[in-house]
Amino acid sequence: MSLNSKVPKGPIKDKWTTYKDKIDLVNPANKRNIDIIVVGTGLAGGSAAATLAELGYNVKAFAYQDSPRRAHSIAAQGGINASKNYMGDGDSNYRLFYDTVKGGDYRSREANVYRLAEVSSNIIDQCVAQGVPFARDYGGLLDNRSFGGVLVSRTFYAKGQTGQQLLLGAYSAMNRQIARGKIEMYNRHEMLDVVKVDGKARGIIARNLITGEIERHSAHAVVIATGGYGNVYFLSTNAMGSNATAAWKIHKKGAYFANPCFTQIHPTCIPRSGDYQSKLTLMSESLRNDGRIWVPKNLEDAKAIQQGNLKPTEIAEENRDYYLERRYPAFGNLVPRDVASRAAKERCDAGYGVNATGEAVYLDFAFAIERYGKEQAKIHSIENASAEKITELGVNIIKEKYGNLFQMYEKIIDENPYITPMMIYPATHYTMGGIWVDYNLMTTVEGLYCIGEANFSDHGANRLGASALMQGLADGYFVLPYTIGDYLSDDIRTGGIKTDTKEFDEAEKEVKERIDFFINNKGSKSVDHFHKKLGKVMWDKVGMARNEKALKEAMAEIKAIREEFWKEVKVPGKADEMNLELEKAGRVADFLELGELFAKDALQRNESCGGHFREESVEQEGLQKGEAKRNDKDYAYVAAWEYKGEPGDAVMHKEELEFKDIELKQRSYK
Ligand SMILES: Cc1cc2nc3c(=O)[nH]c(=O)nc-3n(C[C@H](O)[C@H](O)[C@H](O)COP(=O)(O)OP(=O)(O)OC[C@H]3O[C@@H](n4cnc5c(N)ncnc54)[C@H](O)[C@@H]3O)c2cc1C
Repeated sequence: MSLNSKVPKGPIKDKWTTYKDKIDLVNPANKRNIDIIVVGTGLAGGSAAATLAELGYNVKAFAYQDSPRRAHSIAAQGGINASKNYMGDGDSNYRLFYDTVKGGDYRSREANVYRLAEVSSNIIDQCVAQGVPFARDYGGLLDNRSFGGVLVSRTFYAKGQTGQQLLLGAYSAMNRQIARGKIEMYNRHEMLDVVKVDGKARGIIARNLITGEIERHSAHAVVIATGGYGNVYFLSTNAMGSNATAAWKIHKKGAYFANPCFTQIHPTCIPRSGDYQSKLTLMSESLRNDGRIWVPKNLEDAKAIQQGNLKPTEIAEENRDYYLERRYPAFGNLVPRDVASRAAKERCDAGYGVNATGEAVYLDFAFAIERYGKEQAKIHSIENASAEKITELGVNIIKEKYGNLFQMYEKIIDENPYITPMMIYPATHYTMGGIWVDYNLMTTVEGLYCIGEANFSDHGANRLGASALMQGLADGYFVLPYTIGDYLSDDIRTGGIKTDTKEFDEAEKEVKERIDFFINNKGSKSVDHFHKKLGKVMWDKVGMARNEKALKEAMAEIKAIREEFWKEVKVPGKADEMNLELEKAGRVADFLELGELFAKDALQRNESCGGHFREESVEQEGLQKGEAKRNDKDYAYVAAWEYKGEPGDAVMHKEELEFKDIELKQRSYK
């Protein structure tokens, strides 16, 4: 099948408007006869479900948690971008578009990103109208802060809880529709397969996670909004339940999987403390606005710190290496995430890491505390303020801005970050790859849509901070509700979709057989045993830096782990009850396939771009020496993989990327 991105013709600024003017609409009376399934009720699915129901469609929404409020979106801390230019620092739709395409290292589709920038302002208006308590400045106007990789302040935020507040907004909008009967909410339900009838997505098979019952649900279209696949690494900043099952199942039924190797490793996470950890914690990127990142300049100091014989506060200023400020003077501590992560790894690999494992760098707020303290002393006309007073005033400001993050850090590490610099290290955080979708957000299966982190759409090879929330909500509130209507206008005479058909029988049979296998297998090893093994291969060989030899090894090793999994996995309990191990087994089985495709994708992309750093593709000379080397001539495409039975046999289809409104340049943050 050839890939048609269906990008409308015309100048980039007019594409979306012209598209909306020309599409077919479904009249209000007909919408009442059309059913839509939305799988996932995080920010993407929640906003889509609420909007589609508000428009008049009958929505069935599914989530595996006990409430939409518990979706992983709740974890988002830092903020959401929009090109409102409230700060008057020169922002515009074009600049947001430009920064996002550049930040993604020119591996995203121009038209989608421009549309994203265009609707970004609507998102803020929508959320403010819902009552989302964005931070405000002294005069009561919405405040903004800056995030990595850009030169303007365009990030709207609600302390360190932006995702939670946005989700409460979307959830309230959903609740209104649940109360009206326009959304049927299926909490604690996991989609285990999609059902196709005559090539079109017409329903899903879901398991009731409380009773174990397998259910059939039909609709005229199916929307997948099930989040990212970062947990393929086992350890990540994602919620522990986040998984790729829905995305992987639709991939197996014909939806192409795009750029699986594009993963974001976030530079500011709490370092791993040992082998028995099952989760990593993010420290929001917003902290880089005020924190300065450093390691000791001298190896002896680093060693002494690793051995617990020296404290960071005992290292003199001239013996500290603020390596981001040194290497990237223009952006300093606010370089994009991929650049900051690799720079931390480089220092730690060279032996300058600062905790017992040698895998950590400092994020230091002493300077910001002093700066804010002095400013406050002036504002409050405190003359000759003592050092203690300045610290007290400065700490109050830092507390106001990031208090909950500092508290979280102290609870986990048991050190006071107002006094001792925080330790941070990169961790898997977000997946830019995902299900391939066209401009309409439709997958390669008719009537099957994919939105939010689960699709590949707008971030290219690297996601800038605060742009995932923007994309999820753009998809759900402002894009899908139009594009899906255009498709459904052909379905106004179809009538309800029956579930007592051979297509539903077959899909249900497959799901039941797999569950039976897990329950009856006489293995001896836990699901986590295999997940951890997979995660180690992914981190060591398909992590922050990749090379041909290691990627080939990774593919073979993942295949071997998968084979062992199917022989040796042990799942206690029964199928017809709540069974967390059974849920995990299904998800890890899918990760074990996705992981191999991930490595295969990384292997074919013999260039460094964004979050994908190939050791064979590094700048050898000049100002950029040692930095990632992109290859636009050979790799300016989206790699969309078609399932062919085994992940290793998947076939790649290329969507060539055209850049008409942006000149491709080497990314330089120097
Ligand atoms: C710690 C952290 C902080 C972040 N901070 C920011 C930030 O400040 N700004 C920003 O822009 N981005 C941030 N991100 C990224 C952002 O939060 C996510 O990309 C985004 O929230 C994903 O939203 P989503 O709706 O696509 O998926 P999710 O919120 O992951 O929702 C997935 C939904 O799908 C459901 N689901 C999954 N599988 C199934 C299945 N098989 N059957 C039924 N239901 C299923 C789940 O129940 C859930 O409802 C952060 C990410 C992390 C990890």
